[in-house]
Amino acid sequence: MIHNFNAGPSILPKEVFEQAAEAILNFNNTGLSILEFGHRTPAFTAVMDEARSLAKELMQLDENHQVLFLHGGASTQFMQVPMNLMDLKDNAAYADTGVWSSKAIKEARLFGKVDVVCSSKEKNYSFIPKNFAVPNDAKYFHITTNNTIYGSQWQQIPATSNILVADMSSDILSRQLDFNSFGLIYAGAQKNMGPAGVCMVVVNETILGKTKRAIPTIMDYRNHIAEGSMLNTPPVFAVYVCLLTLRWLKSIGGIPVVEKRNNEKAALLYKEIDENELFNAQIEKEDRSKMNVCFRMNDDTLEQTFLEYASKQGIVGIKGHRLSGGFRASIYNALPFESVQTLVDIMRQFTLTFG
Ligand SMILES: *Cc1c(COP(=O)(O)O)cnc(C)c1O
Repeated sequence: MIHNFNAGPSILPKEVFEQAAEAILNFNNTGLSILEFGHRTPAFTAVMDEARSLAKELMQLDENHQVLFLHGGASTQFMQVPMNLMDLKDNAAYADTGVWSSKAIKEARLFGKVDVVCSSKEKNYSFIPKNFAVPNDAKYFHITTNNTIYGSQWQQIPATSNILVADMSSDILSRQLDFNSFGLIYAGAQKNMGPAGVCMVVVNETILGKTKRAIPTIMDYRNHIAEGSMLNTPPVFAVYVCLLTLRWLKSIGGIPVVEKRNNEKAALLYKEIDENELFNAQIEKEDRSKMNVCFRMNDDTLEQTFLEYASKQGIVGIKGHRLSGGFRASIYNALPFESVQTLVDIMRQFTLTFG
């Protein structure tokens, strides 16, 4: 039995894999593979429409919020957001809470002024900043709701009168939020939604069209909205797998149910880290991520031994990111509670043997 804690691409529900495999051979009983299927056919436009409407339903989006499935991953959004939302003379506010935020900041600087209104960089990104002010004239305020590499997460979405933009790549659809309070949300699919190769964007269309800059056709969100995410060939298979995941999420009861499961998984694992004498967590308790649980050993010379010990028992993907070291267990929506229980049991056995 394998327990997949990979950070991304990462685990998806087993039934999604089964249905995706089936569609590769015979999509919707057409006798054709989804991989050889035209994106403008009624059968595929139905997939795109259902994926968009299910995302809207699960996130309870209002009529101004449009759902797009775009190419280029979350990293393309680092430039597409500022390109659409500000002019060169404008400024935008950013919170610097980890590697991905700082990459977003770097790209935004190509399109206008960037005001880094708060940062946890000096303390190795071990907390979420609390007291800061966002200038009123900032065209938008950008946060990374979950910091995949360091394992911190905004537990409270900051109140702001500015347009709020969020990179939700690693906690999209994992917890209930007022998604309508965001001007724009983006999420690379490969953490919690589907395979790599597609990025979901949720945008309040009333915030678009306010800049003077010339925007390349494929970069302008308005064109994607007008064409229903079919401006050019969409990543057909990736969108289909997202649809299967969205259907799965709805079938288990939607975001409230998955949030409860996610809370239980995170609580179990952090409890063990806190109580086990060999392990510790670096992130401030109140800011700990419920998606990417980062931890270390008090004696770091034991880390390699633990990694081998755990991997012999089917644990995959817990080696920490090269920037943060230690371990990272990604416990996304699709990861079963039993996998977390197994990891915790292994930590206990290890402590009995080596502690
Ligand atoms: C993985 C990740 C990204 C990068 O996504 P790509 O799809 O590879 O561009 C950006 N932001 C966050 C928070 C991530 O977890």
